[in-house]
Amino acid sequence: MRITVPYVGHLWVALRALAARSGLEMVEPPRPSQHTVSLGVRYSPEWMCFPFKVVLGSFIEAIERGADTIVMAEGPQLCRLGYYARLHEQILHDLGYTHVRVLTFNWQEEQILGFARFLRSLLGKERSWKEIIGHLKHGLEQLVLIEDAEKRVHYLRPRARDWREVNRIWQLAGPRISAALTSQELREVRRQLLAELEAVDLDPHADPLRVGFLGEFILVIDPFFNLDLEDELGRRGVEIVRSSWIAGWAKIWLFVEMLGLSHGQEIKKAAHPYLKRDVSGEGLQTIGETVLHAQEGFHGIIHIQPFTCLPEIMAQNILPRVLRDHDIPVLEIIIDEQMAKTGLITRLEAFVDLMQRRRSREARATRPDL
Ligand code: SF4
Repeated sequence: MRITVPYVGHLWVALRALAARSGLEMVEPPRPSQHTVSLGVRYSPEWMCFPFKVVLGSFIEAIERGADTIVMAEGPQLCRLGYYARLHEQILHDLGYTHVRVLTFNWQEEQILGFARFLRSLLGKERSWKEIIGHLKHGLEQLVLIEDAEKRVHYLRPRARDWREVNRIWQLAGPRISAALTSQELREVRRQLLAELEAVDLDPHADPLRVGFLGEFILVIDPFFNLDLEDELGRRGVEIVRSSWIAGWAKIWLFVEMLGLSHGQEIKKAAHPYLKRDVSGEGLQTIGETVLHAQEGFHGIIHIQPFTCLPEIMAQNILPRVLRDHDIPVLEIIIDEQMAKTGLITRLEAFVDLMQRRRSREARATRPDL
């Protein structure tokens, strides 16, 4: 059995280590490229959302590298993601990859216990539960570390004297964390990595704009899907703040949400006057976070969504009502296979300019001597 999984964000950091620690035969799909997009677009129904197409392209690339088993989440209460796996399987079989099996687990209903059982069925029933829990814990700790480092990168990029110094450390973070196969090694990588980031030379006069980065999960967390938007904004003096994180999502669903303690409760409360129920995906989060960021004094919101994404279309249609009550500029970005980076940069620069002017105007209103 040679397993592959969708290439999403930094998931590969934990999966590569899991393969090395457990002996699981894993075929990593290459990082998505234009070739991946072309494959996915060619064989997907036209109306499917962009992530579906890219993931399909990734699976084809992984199968060509020898993968014969695909692992995916599925289940009710998810948006189209709930039936992605079955459609992908059907398309791959129609393309002649009839030897490929798609294994799924129902995250919404089974959560962590179901996932532990699922992992044991992949690794072999002779593995002890202690070992399975150990792999899950190590993987989660790796994801927490890479995302802690990424949050620091978001903070430092617009404040560094030279953003290239931050990027240089960041580019090596994934391989370093992934190569840490024991808790001790991981602790050492954490210490070194965070120390290197803390040593970055900062500009004492930097005064970054703060922008909430909201929208569909994969587009928010993965630089391939959002055309490196976080990096482009960081080097233009904008601090990105986002609430979609793989480890955060896992931790919320595993433990905290059950106790009613997560940031999710605050988001639901903030969204409630405009949207009273979960519409799947990140629709509710987009509304709630927009309200919270406006109250926290953010300078703007970037709302990103794939073309034909149902939850985000709902959020986009509700947002004008939110903005009547909360004065914050929103840049809407819709991504599909036609999107070019040059056009995106022009829009980002115009949005940064708008936020700077608003900030100066507000400063002059309170301090006429400026
Ligand atoms: S959230 Fe939107 S883009 Fe993502 S899988 Fe669901 S429908 Fe597709």
